[in-house]
Amino acid sequence: MNDKFSGKFANAEKCDAEMREDMEKILIVDDSLLQAAQLKKILESDYDITLSHTADEGLALAGSGDYSLILLDVIMPGMDGFTLLKKLQEEVITQSVPVILITSLSDIENEQRGLTLGAVDYITKPFHPLIVKARVNTHIKLYKYRKQVEYQSMTDQLTGIANRRRHDLYSIMKWKEATRLQIPFSICMFDIDHFKAYNDTYGHPAGDKVIAAVAQTIKQYLQRTTDFIARYGGEEFVAIILGGEARANFEYLKKIRQGVEKLHIPHTGNVSEWVTISMGGVTVAPHNNEKYADYLKIADTMLYDAKRFGRNQVVWYSGNKEQWREK
Ligand code: GH3
Ligand code: MG
Ligand code: MG
Repeated sequence: MNDKFSGKFANAEKCDAEMREDMEKILIVDDSLLQAAQLKKILESDYDITLSHTADEGLALAGSGDYSLILLDVIMPGMDGFTLLKKLQEEVITQSVPVILITSLSDIENEQRGLTLGAVDYITKPFHPLIVKARVNTHIKLYKYRKQVEYQSMTDQLTGIANRRRHDLYSIMKWKEATRLQIPFSICMFDIDHFKAYNDTYGHPAGDKVIAAVAQTIKQYLQRTTDFIARYGGEEFVAIILGGEARANFEYLKKIRQGVEKLHIPHTGNVSEWVTISMGGVTVAPHNNEKYADYLKIADTMLYDAKRFGRNQVVWYSGNKEQWREK
């Protein structure tokens, strides 16, 4: 419930858009227009509802990752509810979204099969509005709690940025999206230079502070909503940048290397008198038969080259068999 908007109907037009932004999104997949409309009516004062009348469309919509709950009719022409449920369970983006099946009272067998396949609950026709609301509210509440815990478990404690687990999930999701929408995709790996020597000279706690400062600096440069940065390992970071040409990204990312050096954190055992980073990256227009992991490997190879060529520099693979190497 959205207490903040309890007087919402007085100002319906104006509040509607604002209110929906705050609401959890529910997807209803049901071939029966009447049944879907009934469910929508029961839930729309509390949730932002999307209706879909085929399983195919439902699957595509669910792939956006926007929904906190899916209400799914079991019997539909074409792809049925069970097949859709299975597909949802197979996808990283949708597998944790709770699915409630819509069954009829006499449908014990289907109910059982659905629950075995991973549905969290079922509601039976004809609908009792209070029961529908209660079940939906419960599952939304559980989902939100789970998401919160999951979010915390995917945040790096030291730096406050995403950890490797979140990177693994995010990268798959965005790679798919970029492939579908044909958006240029850049991956960049960062690694602090001679950091073992830093720890040896200044101590581990001071090293921790450096890791946090470098993370914050990278983050300050990558602030678009489509930019992503994670701590990939000890003193290694990875960034994903959507859009932009290879050269423009390369030029922009060079500023991050410069920004880290300009922090002027003393480091006597380094190639510079300050703490520095090496960076390796690649820009690609992803196609269907390509894998994110293969390009991450290329970025890592570029990073390795940056180290080999003397550290404190950026090496980029443009995608046209060209390698750029600058400070
Ligand atoms: P290179 O320039 O080739 O990257 O040399 P390097 O010394 O940075 O690389 P190496 O991989 O040999 O050492 C990485 C060091 O980073 C070793 C490890 O102790 C340190 N490290 C990893 N995680 C942390 C951390 O959380 N805190 C601190 N203080 N140090 C860490
Ligand atoms: Mg290092
Ligand atoms: Mg390293």
